[in-house]
Amino acid sequence: MKNKTAFGHTAFITGASAGIGEAVAYSLAAEKANLILIARRLDRLKVIKAKCLKLGAKSVEIFKLDIQSSKDVQAFAKKNQKTLSSISILINNAGLAKGVELFQDANTDDWDQMMDTNVKGLLYLTRALIPAIIKNEGHIVNLGSVAGRLVYEGGAVYCATKFAVRAISDGLRMDLKGTRARVTNIEPGMVETEFSKVRLGNQQKADAVYNDMMPLKAPDIAETILWCLQRPSHVNIQELVIYPTDQASVGQVVRGEKSVKNKKSKN
Ligand code: NAP
Repeated sequence: MKNKTAFGHTAFITGASAGIGEAVAYSLAAEKANLILIARRLDRLKVIKAKCLKLGAKSVEIFKLDIQSSKDVQAFAKKNQKTLSSISILINNAGLAKGVELFQDANTDDWDQMMDTNVKGLLYLTRALIPAIIKNEGHIVNLGSVAGRLVYEGGAVYCATKFAVRAISDGLRMDLKGTRARVTNIEPGMVETEFSKVRLGNQQKADAVYNDMMPLKAPDIAETILWCLQRPSHVNIQELVIYPTDQASVGQVVRGEKSVKNKKSKN
């Protein structure tokens, strides 16, 4: 990014129909960026577009796109070549976990969807947009996870996809050296979004994940991403790990009386 704020920049956000992607859209809208938002649920994107325009986005374009399909991503990039050539911020956020079964009990369709979205989709999209990122000396922000640093039971494949995001982020930064383009990997712990509902299949199970503790919220991550984007052009934040205070590590969660949610602050 040639200037320090998102003002006037064109940001492409994948998975902007919910959770972290939606929150990033709002934070960049407030910075008067031009936005290009993609997801599979166009009805949701329409509502989010209206909110972004109200918040101050200079322009908002929305597209229905499933990043799992290499053919669809390529066709999309070809059809919208002119619009996409202005991109200087790419937020590779679309992603998901499916299931928590042990490896030996897991459904291989879930594995395909996680690999095809979190790894291959991110690759297809980045390959299609990277000429613009290089031309505009832009910034790629990938949504990794603490699951890209630590493996947990029932999470072998989701963790593998996020380890891959970490490797791809590092490799990209090396391959882009000398172009002035930047690459940042954001690695959150528990963030309360639709993530657990998608993973576990219903709202009741998802609510239990965040029961009696204080998870991160999507705007916490959006704020962090905005901070990374706003560093001066000679500063590249390689990666940032963000836990809620109630989560000391993967699987190390404080609930009940000692939770930030229930404890009266001393400050
Ligand atoms: P979320 O609320 O479920 O949002 C996921 C977004 O990804 C949705 O907008 C969804 O939109 C989009 N998406 C999924 N598959 C897609 C596909 N094939 N093509 C295009 N878009 C697709 O989850 P979130 O928590 O915001 O997750 C965002 C990212 O953060 C993910 O990469 C996730 O792995 C990562 N993350 C989340 C957490 C957490 O605790 N929540 C922690 C660490 C990292 P459509 O369904 O409309 O396509």
